[in-house]
Amino acid sequence: MWLFLCPCIAPALAVNGPSLLPQIEQDPQQDEEQSPEQASGLLDSILWMAAPKKRRTIEVNRTRRRDERKLVKVKKNIEPCPECGHLKQTHILCGFCYAKICKETGLIRQQIKEMEGGPLRAPTVETVVLYEGETLSEQEDGKRIVERSRKRPAWFRN
Ligand SMILES: [Zn+2]
Repeated sequence: MWLFLCPCIAPALAVNGPSLLPQIEQDPQQDEEQSPEQASGLLDSILWMAAPKKRRTIEVNRTRRRDERKLVKVKKNIEPCPECGHLKQTHILCGFCYAKICKETGLIRQQIKEMEGGPLRAPTVETVVLYEGETLSEQEDGKRIVERSRKRPAWFRN
């Protein structure tokens, strides 16, 4: 530790530093007096961990490891999606359907961007998506209209 200190302050401190290391220049009498203290100092610096007194059998260990609380729970709330048939959790949106809608919405957004040249020029009216073969109703007059050149997917509603 002291070796890494700056040389300007090192010499004064370095002498006092390694008190735990065995010192050679001592007479035997003084060495005997100091040895218990040195030993305790060494033991204090070690982190002692608890060690088991007896070995646990493999059956005991396996019983503990395969305890019911530690096992993964069996899910019973899985059902097929009514739209696409993929398995999904009840009361949770189907991931496949969500990805499909995300893709279609992204395409619509892209078309809007091409129409208006950026997201900042959006008019403050509702947006209506018109698919192929659809006509504008009277209610939707005056709203922003995005026309898609495909048939409306069954899962996509305005
Ligand atoms: Zn689905």
